[in-house]
Amino acid sequence: MTATPALDPPARVLLGPGPSPVHPRVYRALSAPLVGHLDPEFIALMERTKDLLRRVFQTRNTLTLPISGTGSAGMEACMVNFVEPGDRVVVAVCGLFGQRLAEVARRCGAMVTAVEAPWGEPVPPEALAAAVMKERPKLLAVVHAETSTGVLQPVAPLADAARECGALLLVDTVTSLGGVEVDVDGWGIDICYSGTQKCLSCPPGLAPITVSDRALAALHQRHAPVQSWYLDLGMIEQYWGQDRVYHHTAPVSMAYALYEALRLIDEEGLPRRWARHQANHERLVRGLEALGLSLPVAAPWRLPSLNAVSIPDGVDDLALRRALLRDWNIEIGGGLGPLKGRIWRVGLMGHGATAENVVLLLTALGSLLAAHGFSVRPGAAVEAALAV
Ligand SMILES: *Cc1c(COP(=O)(O)O)cnc(C)c1O
Repeated sequence: MTATPALDPPARVLLGPGPSPVHPRVYRALSAPLVGHLDPEFIALMERTKDLLRRVFQTRNTLTLPISGTGSAGMEACMVNFVEPGDRVVVAVCGLFGQRLAEVARRCGAMVTAVEAPWGEPVPPEALAAAVMKERPKLLAVVHAETSTGVLQPVAPLADAARECGALLLVDTVTSLGGVEVDVDGWGIDICYSGTQKCLSCPPGLAPITVSDRALAALHQRHAPVQSWYLDLGMIEQYWGQDRVYHHTAPVSMAYALYEALRLIDEEGLPRRWARHQANHERLVRGLEALGLSLPVAAPWRLPSLNAVSIPDGVDDLALRRALLRDWNIEIGGGLGPLKGRIWRVGLMGHGATAENVVLLLTALGSLLAAHGFSVRPGAAVEAALAV
């Protein structure tokens, strides 16, 4: 009888839409000894984690903590706690994650108005403001960084319209937090969630969220109990708060990982980290252009952490991505929905947003395209990238 193979995953260069590369210090944190989730040491770690999360979200919100679950659990928590059946919700939809937000709101019983824009563009803030004026919703929900298209949605212009109509502003920052500026208090965001495996460079498994006092007041005025017991923020708040009332068992190792990842962000400093993401995005863009490739998203809307690249005519999407993985150990993403087969998605997230990774990808992509008969010079692409 042959033994079941040992676990032996390859060390990939993760340049797709997530998960992103993990720093060695975060791997070490994952292997630290477990303590009980009510151990005084763990409680102290939770408190420090909440402080670090407030820094990265740029907020003073008391209710700031990681939900146990991936980014989608953060999304679901934000909807199920603040939306009751019959509530009106306005959602900006210009990609897969906007669609998912709308679907989760519908499943909470909301009357959803989707304000749409073509995939590859943001939803115009004026269109959202107009919809909010007309619908007077409980909630206006937008995706800051639309990972399916590589578009950055303007958020700062939305708060005034939301406030005027008494709507709460909910923002998905899964692919922006820790890579692109997110200013929860400065932009007037009421409810915000993220995920650990994008620009925070942790494994997937936690969803940091933050909730304004205005939103908390709305939560406390609910008519019915929150439909989801597991994602009930009132109960989770008591578990993470002073009372330490047992609700569920926090995933201790993931909490270690997030803590260490947040410390790394704190050491680097947010402005430097955003500038690093921006610089490597620009390197990648210059290099791709030198390879004759184009980006479908107009320059002002491009998301530094997730770059959409048009697949040139005559290139087999799947074959090229398989060759990248097999020959170069590099993962990039394919297109979703209407963009399937039309774009690649290159993530430069967190620990992965480096000039080395840009140079490696340009070299790999250039040589594979050259092998496919395209007249490209990978060296020229590297030079163009490094000139930034
Ligand atoms: C990845 C992602 C999510 C979902 O996160 P999971 O960790 O996959 O559940 C939600 N929103 C956006 C914008 C994302 O990129």
